[in-house]
Amino acid sequence: MSFPAITRLSPNRDCAVPNERRGIVFHHTVISFEETIALMTDPARKVSYHCVIAADGTRATLVPDEQVAWHAGISSFRGRTGCNAFMLGLSFAGDTYAAPLTDAQIGSALEWIGPRWSRYGWTIEGMTDHRQVAPGRKDDLNPAEWDRLRQILQDTFGKPV
Ligand SMILES: [Zn+2]
Repeated sequence: MSFPAITRLSPNRDCAVPNERRGIVFHHTVISFEETIALMTDPARKVSYHCVIAADGTRATLVPDEQVAWHAGISSFRGRTGCNAFMLGLSFAGDTYAAPLTDAQIGSALEWIGPRWSRYGWTIEGMTDHRQVAPGRKDDLNPAEWDRLRQILQDTFGKPV
C-alpha cells in the first residue's frame, strides 16, 4: 500500500549542514495535520519536522532529508547534544495520550522509513522520541505508544540479535 505524499517546504530549516543522519526523533503534534503544516510554513514560528503524517496516512514533507529541521530544540541523544544536527524529525498528527497512532499512520511511517533505514544504515538503537531526548521538557510520545512503535520498527527492520 502506498500513502499519499505531498510537499510543503518550511522556511524553518538550515540549508547547509553536514549530511549526518544517525536516526529518527519521533514526535506527535497535538494539533491537526493542517494546523501543523500552517505552523511550520510560518517563518515566525521557527519550528519544523522533516515530515508529518496525518491520521489517514497522508505524509507532508516539510524539510528535505539533507537539511536540518528545527524539531528537537534543547536535546541530547547518546551523549550528544543538539539532536537537530544529526537526527531526522518524524511526527504524527494528533496526541498519542488522547488516542493511539492509527494503522495508517504506522503504515505510512514504515513506508517513509524503509528506504532511509538502508540508505543511512540505521539500527533500532538510532530510534528515539522527543520525550527521551528532552526529558522533563517534552512528553511526546506517550510511553506506551513509543513501546508499541519501537516493537513494530524492531519487527519490521531490526535484525535478530
Ligand atoms: Zn516533539
